[in-house]
Amino acid sequence: MISRRLLLASGLATLAIPARADSSSRLILTGTMEQGSLIVGHAPPGATATFDGDAVSVSPDGLFACGFSWDRTKPADIAIRCADGTRETRTVTPIVRQYDVQRVNGLPQSTVTPSPEIIDRIKAEHARLAAARKTDSAHTWFAEPFDWPAPGIMSGVFGSYRIDNGVPMSPHMGVDMANAEGTPIHAPTGAIVLMSEEFFLEGGFTLLDHGHGVFTYYMHQSARLVKPGDQVGRGDVIGKIGKTGRATGPHLHWGMNWFNVRLDPSRSTKTPVPQKA
Ligand SMILES: [Zn+2]
Repeated sequence: MISRRLLLASGLATLAIPARADSSSRLILTGTMEQGSLIVGHAPPGATATFDGDAVSVSPDGLFACGFSWDRTKPADIAIRCADGTRETRTVTPIVRQYDVQRVNGLPQSTVTPSPEIIDRIKAEHARLAAARKTDSAHTWFAEPFDWPAPGIMSGVFGSYRIDNGVPMSPHMGVDMANAEGTPIHAPTGAIVLMSEEFFLEGGFTLLDHGHGVFTYYMHQSARLVKPGDQVGRGDVIGKIGKTGRATGPHLHWGMNWFNVRLDPSRSTKTPVPQKA
């Protein structure tokens, strides 16, 4: 018998677990409800919604997004107010995850202990990224299960404590898929391209906007094949796997955000991790 814990670890967690109070509930929440997972809300058309008391955008057909940070332990209040004035609140406690320690050696030392000039550059790049992640577009691609953007060997998981070249770093906030340089990277669902450029740590970097503050991003690419403003459909090629930026070998670092809350994209995919071709 395979335990639920093992299923979660293997990526089968994608099966959304509906959190609903009872059969008369008009609020349905889907997601794995773990630390780092995206939550998709389904409310009646015309409803408004809040997350921890803060308003979130709801599409005309009742879809909204929210999520748990990687280290959140306190329960979240997710509430809707329907067009007829009735309200419903759900209190959801994130499922706590255990994160491993991962040691990575052989990184270019300048990317682990950068010079003051490079630190300024990194800060400026990250400020622009944080600003871009305030975008709250009306698209609802986020509500569909995501495809894996590329096959590969999962060489890094979300939330692990990283020790790079012996230096303790902030936790790893994405999924690493190792595969040959040049392997195509596909859009996991529909999106508008918000950024596509070369960053110091991230290397060839692309940020996709799936709507309502849900973004995915792609790092270390050897080629970027889309530009800001482009609309991409599920499966469209957006770039190629590479080892640009802080990387020891060719891999895709795939990340997800709900605004500036960092999420684990492997908890929103509809299938387990694909094997290397
Ligand atoms: Zn990574």
